Amino acid sequence: MRQVAIYGKGGIGKSTTTQNTTAALAEMGRKIMIVGCDPKADSTRLLLGGMNQTTVLDTLREEGDDIDLKEILKEGYGGIKCVESGGPEPGVGCAGRGIITSISMLERLGAYTDDLDYVFYDVLGDVVCGGFAMPIREGKAQEIYIVASGELMALYAANNICKGIKKYATTGGSRLGGIICNSRKVENELELLEEFASELGSQLIHFVPRDNIVQTAEINKKTVIAYNPEEKQADEYRTLAKSIDENEMHVIPKPMSQDRLEELMMDFGILQID
Ligand code: ATP
Ligand code: MG
Repeated sequence: MRQVAIYGKGGIGKSTTTQNTTAALAEMGRKIMIVGCDPKADSTRLLLGGMNQTTVLDTLREEGDDIDLKEILKEGYGGIKCVESGGPEPGVGCAGRGIITSISMLERLGAYTDDLDYVFYDVLGDVVCGGFAMPIREGKAQEIYIVASGELMALYAANNICKGIKKYATTGGSRLGGIICNSRKVENELELLEEFASELGSQLIHFVPRDNIVQTAEINKKTVIAYNPEEKQADEYRTLAKSIDENEMHVIPKPMSQDRLEELMMDFGILQID
């Protein structure tokens, strides 16, 4: 069983990319569980057809410890097992703690069955916060993919996540599997992301184009793969899925300094100093 975590700046496309890619992996016959690690609980919406998944934390709050796996795990598109960890009531407590509670609960209830090929964690937030770093810190996810784009803040967040991976590399054992570019149509984006990944000692595993079909499918509460399997964008996710499935490059990343990051962006004509 490969345990994979998807990180990246807020709004970069983690949940969309995770669901489309796992849908493509399911097409290839892989058995998958997704654990949404975001209080928004929207990591599995496209796979469940918009159905509101009861979160682990809500179930715990309402029913106490004595819960049944069926209450928190629902099968969605392609037989993908969907779990949402949820979060504390807004303004109360640390959202990251929900992940810790949820993963222990899933372990206790026997959700990590041997027939699973993959467990994907769709993780909100920056690894700076303890709770969200948990899949890395405790080595739950051995393989990390970072979603980024050619925008400075996306690369800044990706670089910070690499600092987190490096920090816990020996104790937790997580490795960076690659950078996924979810295009924002920035100039020279492909070349910039290739260089960024290479400087980290990693690889650009796939360049996912920006395409409005992603949002059309989203409004219809589906992945592109389910909404229209013939779409070119569906093939992009299939290629990404295949690259992840065949990936053998797992590294301890070499994060760069803020100065170097900005220099890199200037080299590609994105940042300009007057
Ligand atoms: P959060 O940090 O809030 O959890 P996220 O990183 O999970 O956000 P998503 O919710 O997956 O981001 O995506 C944000 C928006 O971008 C969504 O409306 C989604 O449809 C859109 N989007 C993602 N990828 C693409 C793409 N390749 N082309 C067009 N739109 C996209
Ligand atoms: Mg998300």
